Amino acid sequence: MSVDCIFCKIVQGDIPSKKIYEDDELIAFHDIHPITKVHFLIVPKLHVNSLAECEIQHQALLGKILLLAPKLAQEQGLQGFRTMINTGREGGQEVFHLHVHVFGGGATLPKI
Ligand code: 5GP
Ligand code: ZN
Repeated sequence: MSVDCIFCKIVQGDIPSKKIYEDDELIAFHDIHPITKVHFLIVPKLHVNSLAECEIQHQALLGKILLLAPKLAQEQGLQGFRTMINTGREGGQEVFHLHVHVFGGGATLPKI
């Protein structure tokens, strides 16, 4: 838990979210400003600033996040999806609590 971290507050239930999954280590919820038809975030309950701060003790957690992505994407009705982990300010990260974006929804997915 980090004071003033939006995602820690969502984990704690202090800020509401449109939650789609929760277990003892992870939470997933719809992004407040979706940029595709389906856009959700998978977030560890443990506060880690970014992927750049992850170490060997986070290996299993990172694997668990990635394995959850296709399950939740399927539940959301997606046939395919894109994942993104913005890391650091230069990487476009705005919320400094590790999270994986999952995007999908057919033609609304921008070409990269
Ligand atoms: P980043 O750029 O850090 O990878 O992405 C942070 C994402 O969190 C953004 O897409 C933003 O819309 C989303 N976000 C920021 N604050 C909130 C919030 O309070 N609730 C939800 N559901 N999403 C948020
Ligand atoms: Zn946090």
